[in-house]
Amino acid sequence: MFIDDTIAAIATAPGEGGIGIIRISGSNSLPVAEEIFKSVSGKKISEYNLRTLIYGNIFDGEKRIDEVLVAYMKGPNSYTGEDVIEINCHGGFISVKKILELILTKDVRLAEAGEFTKRAFLNGRIDLSQAEAVIDVIKSKTDKAQEVAQNQLEGSLAKKIRSLRNNVTEVLAQLEVSIDFSDEDVEDVTYKEIEDKSLALRDEIKKLYDSAESGKILRDGLKTVIIGKPNVGKSSLLNSILGENRAIVTEIAGTTRDVIEEFVNIKGIPLKIVDTAGIRETEDIVEKIGVQKSKESIDSADLVIIVLDSSKPLTDEDLEILENAKSKKTIVLLNKIDLDQAIDQTAIENIVGKENIIKISALKNEGIEQIHDKIESMVFAGDVKSSSSVVITNSRHKDALFKAYNSINDAIDGIEQRLPYDFIEVDFKNIWDYLGYINGDTVQEDLLDTIFSNFCIGK
Ligand code: GDP
Repeated sequence: MFIDDTIAAIATAPGEGGIGIIRISGSNSLPVAEEIFKSVSGKKISEYNLRTLIYGNIFDGEKRIDEVLVAYMKGPNSYTGEDVIEINCHGGFISVKKILELILTKDVRLAEAGEFTKRAFLNGRIDLSQAEAVIDVIKSKTDKAQEVAQNQLEGSLAKKIRSLRNNVTEVLAQLEVSIDFSDEDVEDVTYKEIEDKSLALRDEIKKLYDSAESGKILRDGLKTVIIGKPNVGKSSLLNSILGENRAIVTEIAGTTRDVIEEFVNIKGIPLKIVDTAGIRETEDIVEKIGVQKSKESIDSADLVIIVLDSSKPLTDEDLEILENAKSKKTIVLLNKIDLDQAIDQTAIENIVGKENIIKISALKNEGIEQIHDKIESMVFAGDVKSSSSVVITNSRHKDALFKAYNSINDAIDGIEQRLPYDFIEVDFKNIWDYLGYINGDTVQEDLLDTIFSNFCIGK
């Protein structure tokens, strides 16, 4: 793929801020910048050391537009791998817009969403998994999610995939030699060696694949519903949980109506709390829409928090809701433990298991820390806790690993049945391709368009 045009876009978020940045990438970057920028020193940009911030003004002909700082990053040592100019002007809407419009009158076109990062990938500066991590870093909602994305951006997944693919190459080489020189004595040794390597490879692919469940939660949040009758203490609980973990609210455009999502950061896990509006108005879900509806909201959730008032006996309705929730990740909170207890705890244990019940007092802030610990252990079962481990957060990567995993199983079956080497070779070629989807070695152009269209303009 050969890229020869020059692109530009505003790289900072729209709105009032101290600085706005316009980025230009491609072979025309420097000539265009030299044309519109006059340094205060009178020197040209090219006379300065690379990556120096140069103070001056942007001019449209004789007319001064804004006072700016300009930096020149010469390719390949730039974000895109091409010649890049960044113009730091005053923030707000007008300066950035005027400067961008001026640039677009030259031989430069407006960049598409994600196009700078796409170029970094196409120019071989980063692999596809790293390019995808850029957007995850930008969109991450907790420290933990940002750390995982940052690791991926630095190339942790890229490196892992390269090493897995090297193992596949070794097997392919061995198979090819064996196809050429088959000999009964050698054969069994070869089958055994390939089998050992395949089993090890399968373990590694499986481990990566298994990290995807926690990874998805880190990236997209854990969809959580809080269910309970009126006055059991849902709003009080929400306030206690929120505490210092004040929610992050995101607006998602592009749906029929703008959806407001509220995130709570629980030990690095973004909890996406659904129906908080209902809770806040203390109009609870059960009363408003009945058991059937509460079943629907349970079905659509990743985590169900059921709040019961432990100072009151259980009702049939409570039992029904508990039954509906038991197939999900469920935490039952017995609230109001500061009052005299009337609830039948054994009946609840029999439905959801003792380990999923926590006694709390939302009023006195007791037991809240246990809720956090419980959620953490439900999500990070295993090795995801260590921030250095490679975690799959992207469903595209997960699909590719699933295909690779199926192929390695086919290969192992073939080896066990002592099928001819060329059959087994087909499976290994597939594994090679599927792993290549992740780092972008074997990826289609239209898929690239889809991936980068999720980015914001200017990235
Ligand atoms: P919601 O209708 O489920 O959202 O319940 P609220 O959070 O509005 O609480 C209903 C009532 O129960 C309020 O008067 C709270 O102060 C009280 N309450 C909530 N949690 C506790 C608790 O742990 N102990 C006691 N004694 N009262 C509580």
